[in-house]
Amino acid sequence: MQALVKRDAAPGLSLEEVPEPRPGINDVLIKVRRTAICGTDLHIYNWDAWAQKTIKAPMTIGHEFVGEIVEVGSNVIDFKPGQIVSGEGHVVCGRCRNCMAGRRHLCAHTSGIGVNRPGAFAEYMVLPMSNVWEHAPGIDLDVAALFDPFGNAVHTALQNDLLGEDVLITGAGPIGAMAAAVCRHAGARHVVITDVIDARLEMAKTLGATHTVNVGRDTISDLQKQLGMREGFDVGLEMSGNPQAFNDLIANMCHGGKIAMLGIPAKEMAIDWSTVIFNMLTIKGIYGREMYETWYKMSVMIDSGLDISPVITHRLNYREFEQGFTVMNSGEASKVILNWEE
Ligand code: NAD
Ligand code: ZN
Repeated sequence: MQALVKRDAAPGLSLEEVPEPRPGINDVLIKVRRTAICGTDLHIYNWDAWAQKTIKAPMTIGHEFVGEIVEVGSNVIDFKPGQIVSGEGHVVCGRCRNCMAGRRHLCAHTSGIGVNRPGAFAEYMVLPMSNVWEHAPGIDLDVAALFDPFGNAVHTALQNDLLGEDVLITGAGPIGAMAAAVCRHAGARHVVITDVIDARLEMAKTLGATHTVNVGRDTISDLQKQLGMREGFDVGLEMSGNPQAFNDLIANMCHGGKIAMLGIPAKEMAIDWSTVIFNMLTIKGIYGREMYETWYKMSVMIDSGLDISPVITHRLNYREFEQGFTVMNSGEASKVILNWEE
């Protein structure tokens, strides 16, 4: 079968013929239909410092996918061939304290699909049955391929009550834009999103952000005045990884405001602790998705009319992967879908 492989410890990826994987007794074999390119894949493609210390080449990469089950292992009774599925990309140990308590998203020994074990950028992939998520019949396959990053948006956005609240999101990348959609769907009043790229802010508006601020030109506090907000934002979602954005967020929260932090800073960053303390802010780090409450909420929100498809800017065949990585690197793309069917 064909797969996108990090062959050597160097930049780039190659489309190669590799052996088709065989499912173990607890696994399902999935024929991949669509995948999406994540920032993580870009790090691996570019072979940055994180990728160099994390990836053991050769490795088939990719973890955002949807496909069809074509075979199941002998222990698998809940799934059958023909089902349309995505999968949780974090394979957990099942034995640590958190796993044993049912808090699998807090597993201390997670292994990542397409990072530590063979991934989804391939015609076929094997997944443990405990990681399989079945989609509702008729789901748009391009949307289904986004459940991993959509899950990051949902996991972060739903940390706090949203109904009637004012939300500030820093960073209008694909995850920030999808989080804006979730906040509106869940009943927030103002959903303000910031970025330094106008095209990204426009995209976030089409998904549901009520107001945008290009922090290269304007300030969040000016927008607060225009909106007649006196006390700051109730909920903050950090989705940029940028230190300035995080400090802007802290500076614009109401007293007692709640911040959920998904964006990953490239290095250690200073924060204004006095404001955190005097304003009694809560800051919570968010990783991955909850297994499987986040997945449940995603399916239900799509079923109840939430449309995240505007976040898709490019639809390509998997053989055009170089173009996909080029548009991702240029910043002009939000989500890029690779079709593995043709
Ligand atoms: P992205 O890089 O596409 O988006 C980040 C956006 O932040 C960009 O549009 C960028 O222009 C913007 N930005 C830069 N400086 C800014 C500033 N000063 N103010 C406001 N915005 C600014 O990333 P993404 O794929 O949407 O992911 C969002 C973040 O979440 C990234 O940091 C990513 O690494 C992280 N992430 C974390 C997890 C997790 O489990 N914690 C999972 C996936 C992604
Ligand atoms: Zn564990």
